[in-house]
Amino acid sequence: MILAEHLGKATDELLPPDRPVMLHASLRSFGAPVAGGADALLDALLANGRTVVVPSFTEPHFELAAPAALRPARNGIDYATLPATPPLPDSAVYTVDCGLIGPGLGMLPAALISRPGIVRGTHPLNSFAALGPLADKLISAQSPTDVYGPIRELAAHEGQILLAGVGLNRMTALHLAEQRSGRRLFRRWARSADGRVSMFEVGSCSEGFPRLERTLHPYARTVAVGESRWRAYPARQTLAAATAAIVADQGITRCPDRECLACRDSIAGGPVDTLP
Ligand SMILES: [Zn+2]
Repeated sequence: MILAEHLGKATDELLPPDRPVMLHASLRSFGAPVAGGADALLDALLANGRTVVVPSFTEPHFELAAPAALRPARNGIDYATLPATPPLPDSAVYTVDCGLIGPGLGMLPAALISRPGIVRGTHPLNSFAALGPLADKLISAQSPTDVYGPIRELAAHEGQILLAGVGLNRMTALHLAEQRSGRRLFRRWARSADGRVSMFEVGSCSEGFPRLERTLHPYARTVAVGESRWRAYPARQTLAAATAAIVADQGITRCPDRECLACRDSIAGGPVDTLP
């Protein structure tokens, strides 16, 4: 059984007080039950004045098929597989208090967004959510056309990125490194706050990010909690190193699937339009 004291010891060892931390975690990775579950882990992270940030993406709930008039080239999608005029459901508009979250994100983000005081971004597909003293500061940097503002703020506040039992393929911040390396972000479709169907920036394929392991290894500080291997990376230095590595070799993020259209298009520079 993993107890609160084990979680507290590990977080205090890896994470400075009063700083933000972006969390990517697998409860299964502990290899034993965690007393108190996701909430116990969140409590440990939130202790000592820390602010916890998570991705709280909602593609399954709010993403729409590409309308014919909004189909930029090199966007990680083979439009030929779509109907010329896809049906447009009379779908709901995302709101920051919708309480929905993609099931693929795991238990930690779902537990965080259900807490009182949570602050959530306004991006209808790739919002981030945060709790703690810097939550407003971080999340207000996000807008529908600036998806990774919270990661920029995380770095500006000397925050950390914690991978708790998961790999670099889960490190959302590396999409900001891709953008900084000169790539444009993919566009996907959802209703904006006024109900119109619009394009929004989202990240590309992340299954090749483990190829940045050697580049980022010098920055990682590690502890073990049960069978879970935790790695904490300083966001600012990690982004700088990853960006430099991608600039030097755009192909370094290519995933093992040689047919991956998302990797092909993002490595080529991303979509050829610009957001209005
Ligand atoms: Zn890929």
